[in-house]
Amino acid sequence: MSLAEITEKLHKAEDAAGRARGSVSLIAVSKKQPDARVEAILQEGHRVFGENRVQEAAAKWPGFRERFVGIELHLIGPLQTNKARQAMELAQAIHSVDRPKLARTLARLAQEMGTCPDLFIQVNTGEEPQKAGVLPAKTDEFVAECRGLDLPVAGLMCIPPVDEEPSLHFALLAKIAARNGLSGLSMGMSGDFEKAVMQGATHVRVGSAIFGERDYG
Ligand SMILES: *Cc1c(COP(=O)(O)O)cnc(C)c1O
Repeated sequence: MSLAEITEKLHKAEDAAGRARGSVSLIAVSKKQPDARVEAILQEGHRVFGENRVQEAAAKWPGFRERFVGIELHLIGPLQTNKARQAMELAQAIHSVDRPKLARTLARLAQEMGTCPDLFIQVNTGEEPQKAGVLPAKTDEFVAECRGLDLPVAGLMCIPPVDEEPSLHFALLAKIAARNGLSGLSMGMSGDFEKAVMQGATHVRVGSAIFGERDYG
């Protein structure tokens, strides 16, 4: 699908949810996509992108930044503490804060650097053993811990289990965010972003629907 078609779908979902057009940020997930495809989307004027690996982002985005102004980069994948500094230098937002050790590292670096990207706490709403994220029952405590470290917690993020109705997970994430006074909700991907908007998503992370299949070669 084209960027224009996805944007149109997003606007229709915002309408259906009774929300203002443009209130949901469309993160174009460019991981594992050829540079030419990413450049085409930049040429169309889009500026908000997501990557899930620091190394790949570091190889790709400084070059694009020299040529296109106003790029907003979101890191949405698992983050190792030894990559935290590089992640903070590259990205305007990190969506995968999922453990105390990482939170403490980010806090220390934020003090040192005098700045910090917007942070989303990843919640493992499906309680899947192989998936990153704090458990729903532990999220309130972890949010408080991050706030205690003076981290700028913008909201929560989730990736629902593939075989379950995503709306239930989006609703759960929205509920946990609300009771913690958090307004940011990073949820919804190519297959379910319209449902996420209905449940209050503020950021949708859409990859293959915009760029086509990823190159896993
Ligand atoms: C790859 C990825 C996406 C985008 O997935 P699509 O199905 O291609 O839209 C969204 N969120 C995360 C965390 C991802 O890793």
